[in-house]
Amino acid sequence: MRDTELYRHLLGLVEPWEVSRVELSVGDQRVDVWAEHPKRTRFACPECGADLPVYDHSEERSWRHLDSCQFLTYLHASPPRVRCATHGVRQVRLPWAEPMSRFTMLFERLAIDVLKECDVEGACRILRLSWDEGWGIAERAVARGLLRRGVVAPAHLGVDEKAAGRGQDYITVVSNIDAGTVVHIADERKQASLDSYFDTLGPNELARIEAVAMDMWEPYATSVRAHLDDADTKIVFDRYHIMSHMGTAVDTVRKAENRRLRAEGNNVLVGAKYLFLYSAENLPERHAQRFNALRNSDLKTARAWAIKEDLRWLWDYHRRGWADKHWKRWYFWATHSRLEPVIAVAKMIKRHYDGVMAFFAHRLTSATAEGLNSRIQAIRVAARGYRNREHFKTAIYFHLGGLDLYPRAA
Ligand SMILES: [Zn+2]
Repeated sequence: MRDTELYRHLLGLVEPWEVSRVELSVGDQRVDVWAEHPKRTRFACPECGADLPVYDHSEERSWRHLDSCQFLTYLHASPPRVRCATHGVRQVRLPWAEPMSRFTMLFERLAIDVLKECDVEGACRILRLSWDEGWGIAERAVARGLLRRGVVAPAHLGVDEKAAGRGQDYITVVSNIDAGTVVHIADERKQASLDSYFDTLGPNELARIEAVAMDMWEPYATSVRAHLDDADTKIVFDRYHIMSHMGTAVDTVRKAENRRLRAEGNNVLVGAKYLFLYSAENLPERHAQRFNALRNSDLKTARAWAIKEDLRWLWDYHRRGWADKHWKRWYFWATHSRLEPVIAVAKMIKRHYDGVMAFFAHRLTSATAEGLNSRIQAIRVAARGYRNREHFKTAIYFHLGGLDLYPRAA
């Protein structure tokens, strides 16, 4: 097999394209491959598909391709242009790359696979790309995926706010609860943030939404009421967010108590923060002994934690009637606990009670919210290199959008 023929196969070049020349530079560790088409080949207008003779050629361009045995490999060609009666002079579509891309589709596919597994810096090191090149591939993949996907109106929506940078910088993340994917991201956490998602949908799509799980956050509820019929039967203030509030309340109690005890020279709560953030069944074995001693003590923190853990059962009932009974007992306990942060959360839940109990009509899982939350957190940690909020949003879509990211021949 001649090396030109070998490279035609390696590059996956299809008719009428063939390899005219291969140059190997051992010193530079690179292979350069030139592709040409036979004279008098006809090409399709990229707009209308009309079969046309070549009008002329654009200047030679090059595309990075998959390495050949560790050698950087570049494909070179002069893209032909046709003159269509309707569309004028146009460059034809090339079977190995998307328009404007500096990589062959096979290379982009590999890069997307690697970017899925590593952070951008790691992927760029493996692929021997600059950060901007690697990031550009991810950005184009997301743009391509969003375009192909179009609008989505899942039956069960989740809405969440996420810290995007330092301080009060937030984004709003809309997710498909059943698929576990992110469907929309907007700046801030205002009514307008969620409006921007609903505004992408038509009346039929809006009618498909059966339930929206969210935190007890008025701007989001207002947005749902403005866009969905019977919104108040569809809003679910979900377990994930309610338990997060309770977790924060326990931590506030712990902080104050720890401060008071330390002033008295008692260090029993020092370093105990994470013990109280676990739920009972998730506590690692190595902490069990210390934690059991703490939870059975007469510390305020232990009491706050017990109240939090008891609330968790609310969502385990098969019938709402039993949950209502549990709630009444729990509310009495919480509001008589003399623990201000716990009382405040109990009252907040009571104000939103109908929305909390809407769980029993829809039975949305909280696993999606929990899973997406930790994955977005991980993206954010890896995202020190993302430098800005737009990059953070792109990274979320790339990893969690459930998008078809790969380039395809048109
Ligand atoms: Zn045309």
